Amino acid sequence: MPSTLFAKVWNLHTVRRLPNGQTQLYIGLHLVHEVTSPQAFDMLRARGWAVRAVDRTFATVDHIVPTADRRRPFADPLAEAMMAALERNCREHAIPLYGLGSDRQGIVHVIGPELGLTQPGMTIACGDSHTSTHGAFGAIALGIGTSQVRDVLASQTLALDPLKVRRIRVDGALGPGVYAKDVILDVIRRLGVKGGVGHAYEYAGSALAAMTMDERMTICNMSIEGGARVGYVNPDETTFAYLEGRPFAPAADAFARAKAWWASMASDPGASYDDEVAIDASAIRPTVTWGINPGQAVAVDERVPSAGDVPDGERESVREALEFMGLAPGAPIAGTRIDVAFIGSCTNARLSDLREAARIVRGERVRPHVTALVVPGSESVRRAAEAEGLDQVFRNAGFDWRGAGCSMCLAMNPDRLEGRQICASSSNRNFKGRQGSPTGRTLLMSPAMVAAAAVAGEVVDVRPIVRAKGAR
Ligand code: SF4
Repeated sequence: MPSTLFAKVWNLHTVRRLPNGQTQLYIGLHLVHEVTSPQAFDMLRARGWAVRAVDRTFATVDHIVPTADRRRPFADPLAEAMMAALERNCREHAIPLYGLGSDRQGIVHVIGPELGLTQPGMTIACGDSHTSTHGAFGAIALGIGTSQVRDVLASQTLALDPLKVRRIRVDGALGPGVYAKDVILDVIRRLGVKGGVGHAYEYAGSALAAMTMDERMTICNMSIEGGARVGYVNPDETTFAYLEGRPFAPAADAFARAKAWWASMASDPGASYDDEVAIDASAIRPTVTWGINPGQAVAVDERVPSAGDVPDGERESVREALEFMGLAPGAPIAGTRIDVAFIGSCTNARLSDLREAARIVRGERVRPHVTALVVPGSESVRRAAEAEGLDQVFRNAGFDWRGAGCSMCLAMNPDRLEGRQICASSSNRNFKGRQGSPTGRTLLMSPAMVAAAAVAGEVVDVRPIVRAKGAR
């Protein structure tokens, strides 16, 4: 029977069917960070349990690390305590930790792929919602909570309900100035923030086939914002080329063998899906969120809705979002004045993102009323960007250039909005308070759009700039 990648990986990792109907699934890779692990390790310690598969467990620090002054102890005692707890737990259990000072430190969903830890056909778990990122490699990658982090540490397994699989085909070519971020914002806008509940999203079609791994990661990263538990792309030559030579990828003959097995894990032609959606890539435009969830988005040349434009059941949420955002019903999103521009996060802080944003700001200046910062997704990205002189391009334009971490994506470190500031952000969530200020406002968009907004001081359509500057 032709089968989906989801079914193949799920079946291969099934340990047993549990009496409650759930599946006990073996986890091939467990990525750990400082925020969701301290209590999990405490629970292990209280029971006198060891970590079951140390060789499948890797840790880094990302959420709480300052991106400017990284000296210890941190000014924030809570951040320092989380950092110290992770260091102690990793030491006690002999878990590799890519901590501050390591050239491998960075956002957990950036370093896993970079190091070649993330591979096709795997099951991957991490105590962070955006673990779905790793699905770009053809893995089932699950964001889990603290008690499940404990379960994986103790047993290397998780108890899970199976998922339906929806194939989302995106066919055709993206226009200049339209990026993977616009594709996933468009998907979430169409299907809704709860549209994927109970599903795995399989992304397919010629647009996905043409994408780089960085772009596929951006797409899979935000699957969770559309309600899907996981998102994935079938592995192909682009995947294999990305992995070859990475520190934890198989080498020499083992790589050839792995490649054959990885290819066999892709969904078979003729596999059946619980649902299918088709999207025309050429119709997607640069997309910007106007509300307080990632599905409340419009194309940059559209107007925000008014409550009267939507079905009865959505009116209240539209009213609430417009009021919080301070946007007039029916106003054009272009021209919305911004206070802060943030290029960072596990969605869009890889080298290709920074290159594209740098093309937009080269030779330009950030508007005086805008605070702009670039936070590379990993120290490896930072070094590579500096080797190309991208840091200087951003600095010359008036951006702050920082060390790697989550930063203003969720503001568990000193990088945060103040008061009612509006932030053009390349991150993935625009919930109330997400960027540190309870009244701060977030407009999600691609890194190139953030760069353009920083220069203009307001939301602008990046397409004419891209055409003029020759960015992608
Ligand atoms: S960058 Fe944001 S979404 Fe990604 S891991 Fe960090 S906090 Fe989570």
